[in-house]
Amino acid sequence: MRLALAEARLAARGGDVPVGAVVLAPDGTTVLAAGHNEREAGGDPTAHAEVLAVRRAAARFGEWRLTGCTLVVTLEPCTMCAGALVQSRVDRVVYGARDDKAGAAGSLWDVVRDRRLNHRPEVVEGVLAQECAGLLTDFFRDR
Ligand SMILES: [Zn+2]
Repeated sequence: MRLALAEARLAARGGDVPVGAVVLAPDGTTVLAAGHNEREAGGDPTAHAEVLAVRRAAARFGEWRLTGCTLVVTLEPCTMCAGALVQSRVDRVVYGARDDKAGAAGSLWDVVRDRRLNHRPEVVEGVLAQECAGLLTDFFRDR
């Protein structure tokens, strides 16, 4: 999560909402890829941290199925990212701050653990939550 937080800070530097993500290999320690929100930087509405990290991880993993991998992200995934995480077949999703307005991993929806889907990653929430939320609060206060 410390690495994801560092990624989030990079996003803010580029004028993007500070959200960062990393994908860990099945060994749980090797970082396969990282990403941060680049919507403003790239003019791409789908350039969320999780989507970018998962794409890069798959490229490095040499396989679209990220079986055994863990995605760590500073903010609860939105519906788009939750869908991408189910599609990528990651085993575990770890997030920091909850997103009561748009979260799709337990807050507003629970797409990643929807029993109607055939792949449901394990979810761990609240890791360094205050630090993750603090970055967002600072970012929006400064605007
Ligand atoms: Zn998202």
